[in-house]
Amino acid sequence: DHLINQIAAGEVVERPASVVKELVENAVDAGATRIEIELEEGGVRRIRVRDNGSGIEPAEVPLALSRHATSKIGSLDDLESVLTMGFRGEALPSIASVSRLSLTSRTAEREHAHRVELEGGRVVSESPHPHPPGTTIEVRDLFFNIPARRKFLKAERTELGHIEEWLRQLALARPDIDVRVSHNGKILRRWNRQDDLLSTRRLDETLGEAFVANAMRIEADAVGIALSGWIARPTYNRAAADQQYLFVNGRAIRDRSVAHAVRRAYGDVLFHGRHPAYVLFVTIDPRRVDVNVHPAKHEVRFRDARFVHDFVYRTVADALRETRP
Ligand code: ADP
Ligand code: MG
Repeated sequence: DHLINQIAAGEVVERPASVVKELVENAVDAGATRIEIELEEGGVRRIRVRDNGSGIEPAEVPLALSRHATSKIGSLDDLESVLTMGFRGEALPSIASVSRLSLTSRTAEREHAHRVELEGGRVVSESPHPHPPGTTIEVRDLFFNIPARRKFLKAERTELGHIEEWLRQLALARPDIDVRVSHNGKILRRWNRQDDLLSTRRLDETLGEAFVANAMRIEADAVGIALSGWIARPTYNRAAADQQYLFVNGRAIRDRSVAHAVRRAYGDVLFHGRHPAYVLFVTIDPRRVDVNVHPAKHEVRFRDARFVHDFVYRTVADALRETRP
C-alpha cells in the first residue's frame, strides 16, 4: 500500500505546486472562505495551507489519509456529475507518502482539533491540538525519501513561479475566497474576497491593469452550457501567450479545442489570432463533461467537443465583431 501510494504520487505530485493545488482544492471543497498559504524555499522545504472550512471529524482522519477514500462521491453514478475539485481520493495519501505531513483539523462542533503527523506515509504521532474550526495541513521536505525525484526539483524561484501561476488561476476562479500567500516569512499576495463577481478587481490584481483596460466582457448561453468572462481587445498587444485562462465548472483546464476556437475567432474577425489573452468560464452540465481523464485533473473531455468548440467560437467572434469600427 505504501509503495502504491508512492507510485500514485508520481502522477499526482510532480512538484511543490501540485501539493499546493491539491491542498487548496481540498480547502475549496470544504467550503472555506479564507485560505492561508505559507511557503518556504519554493515550497520544497515547507508548504502550509490553513482553511476555515468544514474540518474533518477525528474518526474520519485515517480515512482521509487512505487511498481511494473520498468523502465527495458516493457511487460511480456520482462520478458522472462531480462538481467538487477532488473526487479521486488519492491526493492526501500520495502527498503523505513522499513528505513529512501533519494534518490538524477541527469541525465546528468540537472543542479541540485532532492532529496526525506522518513521515513517508507512516503515522508517527496523534494528539489533540488547539486550532480554530477548519483544517491546517503542513507538508515538509517534499521527496525527502525519494532522492531521485528530489533531484529534479528546480531552483526556488522556478518552483515558486509554478505555485504563483496556479494561485493566480485560483484567484481568478474564486474571487469570493480570501487568499493570503507568504514566502520565506514575507507576504507575497493578499487577495481580499469580493462578492461582486463581475468586478474586475481580481483581474486587475492578477493580470494587471493593462489587461483590464483592454478587456471586454462576454456572456452567452445555450442549452446546457454558458460562457462568460473577459477577452482582450486587439488593442492589447502584449504577446500574452501566458494570459489564456479557461475554467470549466470552476476548474482550471487546458483544452486545445477551446483554445483553438478562441484563436480562430480572433483570426477570422481581426486577422490576428496568435496570442489572444482571455479569462473564460465555461459552465456546463456536469454530465456532459468527463473530468476523470487525468490524475492531476488538468484536462477534461467534453462529450460533445464540436458543440463546445462552435459555441465558444461564435460567442467570441460575435463579441470581437462589435469592436470593429
Ligand atoms: P479527494 O479530494 O479526491 O476526496 P483527497 O486525498 O484530496 O481526496 O482528500 C481526502 C479526503 O480528506 C477528502 O475527501 C475530504 O473528506 C478530506 N479532506 C482533505 N482536506 C480537507 C480539508 N482541507 N477540509 C476538510 N476535509 C478535507
Ligand atoms: Mg482532493
